[in-house]
Amino acid sequence: MTSLMPAVFVGHGSPMNALPGSPYAAGWRALGESLPRPRAILAVSAHWETDGVAVTAQAHPPTIHDFRGFPQALFDMRYPAPGAPDLVARIGALLAPTPVAGSDGWGFDHGAWSVLAHLFPDADVPVVQLGLDRALDARGHYELALKLRPLRDEGVLILGSGDIVHNLRAMRQGPAHDWAARFDARIQTALAAGDIDTVTAIDADEDARLSVPDREHYWPILYAAAQRDPGEPIRFFNHGVDLGAVSMTSFVVGG
Ligand code: ZN
Repeated sequence: MTSLMPAVFVGHGSPMNALPGSPYAAGWRALGESLPRPRAILAVSAHWETDGVAVTAQAHPPTIHDFRGFPQALFDMRYPAPGAPDLVARIGALLAPTPVAGSDGWGFDHGAWSVLAHLFPDADVPVVQLGLDRALDARGHYELALKLRPLRDEGVLILGSGDIVHNLRAMRQGPAHDWAARFDARIQTALAAGDIDTVTAIDADEDARLSVPDREHYWPILYAAAQRDPGEPIRFFNHGVDLGAVSMTSFVVGG
């Protein structure tokens, strides 16, 4: 028996997916029911960028409603999971000598809680959110994430939340743009093959540049991908591109 905790990446798309009835949330709920219960969760959301590495350090991090123009029901939502000071200390030790700042200036943003509300609806597993260091490139995020690998042996679920394809200027009511569908498929193939050179090549060509015009929604993929041991199973779900240019494709490593 292995006690190795799976690692997860979720394409979160619109904040509306937090609400009941989202077809994508059904996939998140099913995943949540299949996962072993973690001791704690380390959430890496596209929606928190920081100068240097930071983590939420509060005993009770607030729910952040970092969006505008959505229904009141979303602003009324709270995700009251406790923080995890012991995990904050452990992350600091694992990432040393890179400094890790304990922050009380953020909380759980919608990249984290819109997904967690379905994965762990009771909000009874402690959560720490990790900020994305603005100074790092794709390889830098991947290498930082590799240092978090021991957490899987300690019952910590690493949850990345972003989008493989995220181009808000190209959104439309209709099918996926061809470039979006091609890039989404390319990255799934590369992840399955463990081809990290391709996964980190986000300037490789026009398909990549159109799919990843801003980097922050891509970085959380690397935090989940870096947890995979050679040959370990990786399973994709919620395949597809919403609104023409927002990939919902998600995966679980080792689960
Ligand atoms: Zn987002």
